[in-house]
Amino acid sequence: MLNPIIENAYKVLDGGVLTREEAFDIAEKIDGEDILDLVSLANKVRKKFAGATAPCSILNAKSGVCSQNCRFCAQSGAHHTGIETYDLVSKEEALAAARNVYATGVRTFGYVTSGYGYKQATPEFQKILETLDLLHKELPDLKICVSLGILSRETAKLLADHHAWRYNMNLQTNPKRYAELISDTHSVEEKIQTIRFLQEVGITNCTGGIFGLGETWRDRVEMAFAVRELGVEGSPLNVLLPIKGTPLENTPVMTAADVVKSVAVFRLVNPGIMLKFAAGRETVMKDFQGLLMLSGLSSLMTGGYLTTRGRSVEDDMKFIEQLDRF
Ligand code: SF4
Repeated sequence: MLNPIIENAYKVLDGGVLTREEAFDIAEKIDGEDILDLVSLANKVRKKFAGATAPCSILNAKSGVCSQNCRFCAQSGAHHTGIETYDLVSKEEALAAARNVYATGVRTFGYVTSGYGYKQATPEFQKILETLDLLHKELPDLKICVSLGILSRETAKLLADHHAWRYNMNLQTNPKRYAELISDTHSVEEKIQTIRFLQEVGITNCTGGIFGLGETWRDRVEMAFAVRELGVEGSPLNVLLPIKGTPLENTPVMTAADVVKSVAVFRLVNPGIMLKFAAGRETVMKDFQGLLMLSGLSSLMTGGYLTTRGRSVEDDMKFIEQLDRF
């Protein structure tokens, strides 16, 4: 017999909306074999409202030495992680990386830089705009997603004028606990304001976060609702891979069951958006990766993440092709 909490959540399939308390009930009370019933519902909701979207791939165009102190991040200058650091890559290097991605069949390319962001059109920001122009000229059907941190209305508009299609700005966790769980060198309000500027200039948004930072079930539900309330088009979800040298290095890794449940709840709260999984698929989920994909995800980030490697692009493409069989 179906657990009554899940039975109630079936209203999402008919266009109904979960309240915060209903979502919280699912997150906190559904466990054991009921998780598979939850997965089944989340996949039906995904199939009906979101379908499946081809994977995307990213380039870390500037690495490390970041002035910010995000607790999970290998690239913060405040931590000692020993990762490779480099300045902004040249536009030719970015084009070569984009061509490699294109050759694998991927048509969405993320250009990502470390750092606080660009509230002014600095010389470095101008170099980024020139890069976007070059990518668009050489690979016109490649969708360009950028992730550059905090923006002003002016810099958001410039990105729109230079072919940026989508922007990645993650809330990372429950916005109300951002300063405590993520960073106190910038605020979540600045991030939300950036998303508003992007929406004003017509750039779509990919806004998600990380599970397993030490947050509660309530925090996970709050993040899902914050994403819903922002009205963004997509959401990347990650699971923390504790990195040596960061304040979270000794954080226990989430169980596969808790990751699956977190994704399923996120999907039930956000039925129609593109939901993709990024870091943590291979390392945390291992043999449960397929189950994760069936828990409401509609896409993947492929070909490696910012500071960790991932599964082959070819395998991921095949994976997505078969998703709609379920
Ligand atoms: S997440 Fe971004 S802003 Fe935060 S430390 Fe890492 S690179 Fe810097």
